[in-house]
Amino acid sequence: MSEMSEMKDTVPVESHGWVLAESDVTPEVLAKVALNAMPLREGDRETLTEQLDRLPRGLVGVGARCACGTPAVTVTLPRLPEGSPFPTLFYLSLPHVVREASKLEANGVMAQFNDQLAADEALRAAHVRAHESYLERRAVLGDVPEIAGISAGGMPSRVKCLHARVGYSISVGRGVCPIGDAALDMIGWDAAECHCQSSDVCDRVEP
Ligand SMILES: [Zn+2]
Repeated sequence: MSEMSEMKDTVPVESHGWVLAESDVTPEVLAKVALNAMPLREGDRETLTEQLDRLPRGLVGVGARCACGTPAVTVTLPRLPEGSPFPTLFYLSLPHVVREASKLEANGVMAQFNDQLAADEALRAAHVRAHESYLERRAVLGDVPEIAGISAGGMPSRVKCLHARVGYSISVGRGVCPIGDAALDMIGWDAAECHCQSSDVCDRVEP
């Protein structure tokens, strides 16, 4: 990540570590964070406030959008403006997908994934790579020593939060986070389809 630390002016927040200023998070920087990440557009802040009941602090972009353009995932700085470390780079915000991920959790899908992880060495290795990739992506935005090695959703050893995996997979595209990808398949996520008014989709994926 030395390349990144030389790239832009950074804001020294602590005696060690650094984080980009919000204004330095350009489209090029976001493109390094995730395949589908992009800057905020007019109206995104209002939409995200509706989706999440408040505007996330440290918000610097969206990780992905629904096919209709509605933000689906937030991208936030690893250190919030008032100084707290914030490990969650990608936060799922699109209401339909949030609800579907909650349903999967309520239906015991996390236990299934944890059983699969315990049984499948290749899946465990992929899970560790997904964790490492998450840390590398976050390191594009800053180096925050307090959360070094901490990613999200229970990675690398377990699955604790499907929302974190789903937000990660939607943002980076398939093939990086196998468990997020599997959850997206269960949810019926299709990047080419609007999921905002989707009672039909809800009915279709109902067990
Ligand atoms: Zn939509």
